Amino acid sequence: MKPRVLTILGATGTIGVNTLDVVARHPGRFEIFALTGATQVERMVEQCRTHRPRFAVMSEPAAAAELRARIAEECLAVEVLEGAAALTEVATAPEIDTLMAAIVGAAGLPATLAAARAGKRILLANKETLVVSGQLFMDAIAASGAELLPIDSEHNAIFQALPRDFDGDFQQAGVKALWLTASGGPFRTLSAEAIAAATPAQAVAHPNWVMGKKISVDSASLMNKGLEVIEARWLFNARPEQIKVVVHPQSIVHSMVEYADGSVIAQMGTPDMRTPIAYALGFPERIDAGVSALQLMGRQLSFEAPDTARFPCLQLAFDALVAGGNAAAVLNAANEVAVARFLEGAASFNAIAASIAHTLGKLANGAAHTLDDLLEADRQARRVADAYLGQLRA
Ligand code: NAD
Ligand code: MG
Repeated sequence: MKPRVLTILGATGTIGVNTLDVVARHPGRFEIFALTGATQVERMVEQCRTHRPRFAVMSEPAAAAELRARIAEECLAVEVLEGAAALTEVATAPEIDTLMAAIVGAAGLPATLAAARAGKRILLANKETLVVSGQLFMDAIAASGAELLPIDSEHNAIFQALPRDFDGDFQQAGVKALWLTASGGPFRTLSAEAIAAATPAQAVAHPNWVMGKKISVDSASLMNKGLEVIEARWLFNARPEQIKVVVHPQSIVHSMVEYADGSVIAQMGTPDMRTPIAYALGFPERIDAGVSALQLMGRQLSFEAPDTARFPCLQLAFDALVAGGNAAAVLNAANEVAVARFLEGAASFNAIAASIAHTLGKLANGAAHTLDDLLEADRQARRVADAYLGQLRA
C-alpha cells in the first residue's frame, strides 16, 4: 500500500500532537510532508527529529529564524519556511494527498480553503474555518471533488452514525435530527454570580478533555457548542431546527443521529481525540488509536437541557446561523477577540457574550459571497469587538 502523504497544519497544538501520536503507531502507512506551528520552536524541533518532514513552517518569522538555527544545529534535513503564504504552500503541495487542518481560529481559513480547492482529503479540526466560510468552503469541496472528514468528536460521531452514502438529503436518508452532545464545560453547575467572577484558570480546566486554551474557554461559555452547531449545518446540510444540543456531562456519547423510525444511533467511546483522528486518518479502514477501551460497567450516563440564560453564547450562535450572510463570520471574530482578552485578564467572562452580541448588532447584515467579503467581515468585527471591550474596561 502506498503511504498517505500528510501535511499537518497546527502540528504543535493539542490536535497536532495527537495526530502525530496516531501516525507513529502505523510505521509505513503515513509519510509526513510538512508540519506547521506558530511560536513553539522546541516542540517543532522535537517533532522534526521524530517525524522527519520535508518542510517545517512557522507562521511567526522570528520563530522561523530560531527554528532554522536549531535545525542546523541538529543537522536535520528539514527546510524551514515562514509566514501565512507558506501555510498555503504546504497545504496545497502536489506531493500531499491529506491535510490535517488543526490551526486554531480563522487564521486557519486561507490555507484550508486552498486545500479544499486543490482537491485534497481534508481532516477538519479547525471548526472556525467552516463557521466563517461555510457555503464557500462546501462549494469548493464540491467543485474540486475534495474529501472532507470531520475531526471534531461530535461531527465525527455523527459522520459515523449516518449512512455511508449520506449526501445531505435528510428526507431520503430518513434522518430527523442531529443531536450534538455537550459536556457542559467546567461551569455547568455554577451559579450566574460565580460564572460572572470566573477566572481564566477556572475556564481552561475542562473536566473531560485536554485542549488548547481557546477551545477550552469556548467550552466553558458553550460557544464551542454554538460553533459546532454552525459546523454541523455545513458538514451535513442540516437546517437549524434539525440540530439539537443536549448536555451530557460524562462525554461518553459523542453525538447521535435520530431517524424517522425512532432509532437513535450514537457513537460512544473514551473521551480521547485520537479516536476521531484515527478514524479519519484510516478512513474507511479502522486503525489502532492507542485509546483505552470504554469501561461502561458501573457508569451512569446523564443528559440535560442546555441553559441558555447562564450560557448565552449558544443562543447567539443559533441566531447567527439563522441570520446567515456574514453573521457567523462576525460572531466568530468577536468571540476570538473576546476570548483572547479574557485569557489576558483584560475582560470578564460575561464580557465575551456581551461583546459578541454588541458586534453582531453593529455588523451582521452584510452579504458574504467571496473570501474577501468574509475576511473583511472578520477584520471589522475584530475592530468593533476590541473597541467595545476597551470601553468596558475604561
Ligand atoms: P492549540 O491551541 O493546542 O493548537 C493550535 C495550533 O495552531 C498550534 O499548532 C499553533 O501553533 C497554531 N496556530 C495558532 N495560531 C496560529 C496562527 N495565527 N497562524 C498559524 N498557526 C497558528 O489548539 P487545539 O486544541 O489543537 O485546537 C485546534 C483546532 O481544533 C481548533 O479549531 C479547535 O476548535 C479544534 N478542535 C480541537 C479539539 C481538542 O480536543 N483540542 C477538539 C475538537 C476541535
Ligand atoms: Mg467538539
